[in-house]
Amino acid sequence: MMHISDRIAQISASPTLAMAAKAAAMKAAGVNILSMSLGEPDFPTPAHVKQAVKAAVDADMSHYGPVAGTPGLRAAAAAYMSSFVERKSGDTFASDDILVSVGAKQAICNAIETLVGKGDEVILPTPCWVSYSEMVKLAEGTPVYVRTRMEDDFLLTPEALETAITPRTRLLVICTPNNPTGAVYDAERISRLAQVLLRHPNIAIVADEIYNQICYTGTCATWAEQTELLDRMVLVNGVSKAFAMTGYRIGWLACKDKSFIKACTRLQGQQITCATMVAQSAAEQALRGDLTCVHEMTQAFEKRRDLIMQLSQDIPGWKVRCPKGAFYLFPDVTALFGKHAAADSSYAQHKAAEGVDDHTLIRSADELCEYLLLDGLVACVSGSAFGEDTCIRLSYACSEQQIREAMQRIRTAIQQLV
Ligand code: PMP
Ligand code: GLU
Repeated sequence: MMHISDRIAQISASPTLAMAAKAAAMKAAGVNILSMSLGEPDFPTPAHVKQAVKAAVDADMSHYGPVAGTPGLRAAAAAYMSSFVERKSGDTFASDDILVSVGAKQAICNAIETLVGKGDEVILPTPCWVSYSEMVKLAEGTPVYVRTRMEDDFLLTPEALETAITPRTRLLVICTPNNPTGAVYDAERISRLAQVLLRHPNIAIVADEIYNQICYTGTCATWAEQTELLDRMVLVNGVSKAFAMTGYRIGWLACKDKSFIKACTRLQGQQITCATMVAQSAAEQALRGDLTCVHEMTQAFEKRRDLIMQLSQDIPGWKVRCPKGAFYLFPDVTALFGKHAAADSSYAQHKAAEGVDDHTLIRSADELCEYLLLDGLVACVSGSAFGEDTCIRLSYACSEQQIREAMQRIRTAIQQLV
């Protein structure tokens, strides 16, 4: 067996992807699992985008392209990112402020690699998406978790941010609309956080706004409005969520600091050469095309949000906050800790086989997810994956019929706990 480097050995596997794979394997084995685990729109890719891919294949877009992305996609992404900023004149972003990557995931990873060094502290408000902490560790930085609470709508407060800052703080990674909580930062809260950051000129900001089109509060406030911080801010977006194009693997970052874009491009040139050319062409057409499809999908997500909220009301032991964006429900389930599954449940049998002493007991969000998977046949992700072990996450990016069926199964399974 080969030696795995310490740097990689300390990284955990993505728990969202792991649960999705587990649910898929159970399904393939004939178990009727409903998966609420993966954050991925179930809609087909818009028809005009599919046409663009076919045209790109026919046009033989099958060779290497520029490292930072095709000129067409960079221009389209710059215009798209600028369209979210309410400026009186001129565009906020130009083509050369954009670096196209393999999904928003790689854009974030590149940004963190480029900004963070050994021992640098990175502030991560939790609950947060599973990959930030591991990316920071990859860069040999230190994640500094700042817990946000359901009572505060899972929003970072300026006071908590100020308290977390030390002379070693290099970066804040903040996500709005948030995965997993569905929290959305309004313009006022962003501005108050920006006031804190203005007092600390050495701290950069990665604003992950990949869900900004999927927002139920009207226009989604963006960090790009904080013009005084723009020279040390990296905005992240992509086509995965808004256009239902997760498998195309196209995302990008936008930044006004040319030396940062240059450094990131250098890194990317050594890592991937460029993102897939036909996929870039598809993404360009998505951004340039009519956005009605995006708004229709968001309306469908909002209807699903309303449905899952309504169905949550009579689930025993759940405490929920209404998500304002993205497509996740993040109930607090602490009231269920200490309850027991039936002795003949699959969960109890599984725990007994593992040699666990009190094998019917549900001790944690991890164990509740295990129970819901084995006895409810619904796959969810434990909040511990997001740094909040009092909650579980359900993705409602699936049909209303699946939401109804899954919630019925969850209710029945939870009602059987004593
Ligand atoms: N940021 C957040 C908050 C996400 O939930 C995701 C979902 N995968 C990503 C980034 C990465 O997006 P992509 O699929 O474009 O890599
Ligand atoms: N972002 C999605 C999620 O949170 C996809 C999986 C991943 O990239 O982690 O489920």
